[in-house]
Amino acid sequence: MKLSYSAYMSYKTCPRKYYYERVYPIPQLRYADSEVGNYLHNYFYSVLNGENESVDADKIWEKIKGESILISAKEIKDDFQDFDDMVAYYSSLSDKIILWRDEKDYVNKIKMGIENSIKIAKALNLKSFNVEKWMNAKIDDLLIYGRFDIISENDIFELKTGGEREDYYLQLAFYALIFYLKNYIIPRGRLVYLQNGKIIDVKFNFNVLNEIMEDVIKVGKGIKNEDFPANKGENCRFCPYKFICDY
Ligand code: SF4
Repeated sequence: MKLSYSAYMSYKTCPRKYYYERVYPIPQLRYADSEVGNYLHNYFYSVLNGENESVDADKIWEKIKGESILISAKEIKDDFQDFDDMVAYYSSLSDKIILWRDEKDYVNKIKMGIENSIKIAKALNLKSFNVEKWMNAKIDDLLIYGRFDIISENDIFELKTGGEREDYYLQLAFYALIFYLKNYIIPRGRLVYLQNGKIIDVKFNFNVLNEIMEDVIKVGKGIKNEDFPANKGENCRFCPYKFICDY
């Protein structure tokens, strides 16, 4: 069985949601934050590669928008008659980009990301590195895998284009476990925030890796045993399956 970090987190948040995601996969919506995030990831990689290209944030935003229609996240429907109704509605949004804030905020986000990319790349001064590298490791019959933003020697980096969040530490720990199981070396984690320019170093040790490994195994067992209880709570507010959930 395969387990990515997002599947692991989904099960931890709500096993029932994990189940719905597998049985009723829904079309991916295009969010402005993700589109800008993807652009900034690639921009940062290009700066690391020495291509210190100066770009105009307004023009980048225009390019990201392209011919897409912009709609506010508040307009997105979240009440459906059935699953087919939801899929049809989500599919109808494929030519749209969903905004959580004003357009000017996205332009500023691009601007900040560009400025900080140049400063951070200079501060890191990486000589040899790989970007967006897939790696996996086996724990018995459980294959855990992930795409590492940057690996440089024994440092693993996660690039973040939004605000600081606690769960990013868990994501790094998940990747650190893969790295360790593959190389028998405990890596140093580095969270890079392109909006505030921070680089936060995260040290791992055997206890931390062991703890996350036990949790990953527990999640793997839960999935294997088809144990999908509902975890009703604050997370339901943002759950796309709340209209079919029988919690
Ligand atoms: S509505 Fe709540 S309990 Fe139901 S699947 Fe979603 S997160 Fe889980």
